[in-house]
Amino acid sequence: MLKIFNTLTKKKEIFEYSFTKRINIYVCGVTVYDLCHIGHARTFIIFDVIIRYLQNLGYNTYYIRNITDIDDKIINRAKKKKESVSFFVKRMIKLMHEDFLCLNLLFPNQEPRVTECISDIIFLIDSLLKKNYAYIACNNDILFPISQYKNYGSLSRRINNCCFHDNKNNNNLNFESSKDFVLWKHSSNHVDPFWFSPWGPGRPGWHIECSAIINKFFKHEVNIHGGGIDLLFPHHENEFAQLKSFKDYFSVQFWMHAGMVILNNYKMSKSLSNTITIRSLLKKYDSEVIRLYFLSTHYRHPLYFLEKNLCLFKNILEKIYISLLNCITDMYIQTDYEIKLRNMFKDKFYHAMNDDFNTPQACLVLQKLSQYITKIKNSNIYLANILATDLVKLGNVLGLLYHNPKDFLSNRYYIPDGQINIIDNLVKMRNFYRLNKQWNLADIVRKKLFTLGVIIEDNLNHSTYRFIN
Ligand SMILES: [Zn+2]
Repeated sequence: MLKIFNTLTKKKEIFEYSFTKRINIYVCGVTVYDLCHIGHARTFIIFDVIIRYLQNLGYNTYYIRNITDIDDKIINRAKKKKESVSFFVKRMIKLMHEDFLCLNLLFPNQEPRVTECISDIIFLIDSLLKKNYAYIACNNDILFPISQYKNYGSLSRRINNCCFHDNKNNNNLNFESSKDFVLWKHSSNHVDPFWFSPWGPGRPGWHIECSAIINKFFKHEVNIHGGGIDLLFPHHENEFAQLKSFKDYFSVQFWMHAGMVILNNYKMSKSLSNTITIRSLLKKYDSEVIRLYFLSTHYRHPLYFLEKNLCLFKNILEKIYISLLNCITDMYIQTDYEIKLRNMFKDKFYHAMNDDFNTPQACLVLQKLSQYITKIKNSNIYLANILATDLVKLGNVLGLLYHNPKDFLSNRYYIPDGQINIIDNLVKMRNFYRLNKQWNLADIVRKKLFTLGVIIEDNLNHSTYRFIN
């Protein structure tokens, strides 16, 4: 039985729904003003594994990850680069997608951009104004009055610090507090991008975008809402306050937060100029090495990043692939052969994953299984083949062991050839969607491959590809 640590209740809770129900998952995405760094990689790898695992258990997931494509940092960076905001954003989103494909991250079912949801944002702000959960400040911005929402602070437990009335800043609206946050930023210069609204030209604040997107796609229920721990306050607190003020029956059942990546004893953050980009790491290490390294720390713990540790995980992954060499790993025929032994490994894997996605333990099970295969391969290749099939299947649940062992061990995947890596990952991703009967997503990937000049050929159990002409 799966248990998940819920940030809202600070407890591990049972995750149990009907398999016929759609599981709504929302993860706050990237503000595209720079290249993605390994802090992003960690967060999105974790939620990728969570989705793969839920699907493996039989759940029907619906995953949305937004893109923040309007923001002060984006506008300033575009100016600095002497590019239009729209050109700059398009370029950054393309680079983000390349990084995510190289990391073998599953496509979200929807990836809405904030600028595509302005009418939904205006609708939500308008509703909050009518309910007295928003007000127009002296500078014509629209703010959310946190003192109006009695449960403010319940998610992040920061109630004592936040929920007070700042009388010093009171104006004649008798409302305004320095802690109130912006829903709509009034446009004063008419130069930076703006949209018309009933309250004049402007653009949305950061927090309102996720609430509006959630309301648009999920209506009144999110089963898992995720993001990095740095988003817990104020972003998620504010998101939650907006949604609950809009619909008091709105429910987020599980709030999940991924720990930070710590580099040189500081939180990895662009604002602190303390980052390593995903693409710089992918030039040196295969994406599965990076994934295995990240999954070997529990997702709620901070990860103290040391590049030399990637070499250790490269060795571990190589040993696993060596155990798979010359094994047949697609034994689709169900067999009862050595069922007790096989179940022992599987049970340990599922037991670890059911305990709040304990991926460090699950990775250890993969290592133990691989060691066992190596031990018996010479004496019992039939059993080794069966166990190797199990190993690959369990590895795939974590987004690992997708390579052909020979290719991996010949270092083909360390060659920084972005294009081949992207195509391989897209083909793997499409196979994954086909296996999970997610035909729409499989079709999106097929079209994406076609734009890269690749034609897919489907066989019984897997797909291969060839280049056009
Ligand atoms: Zn968000």
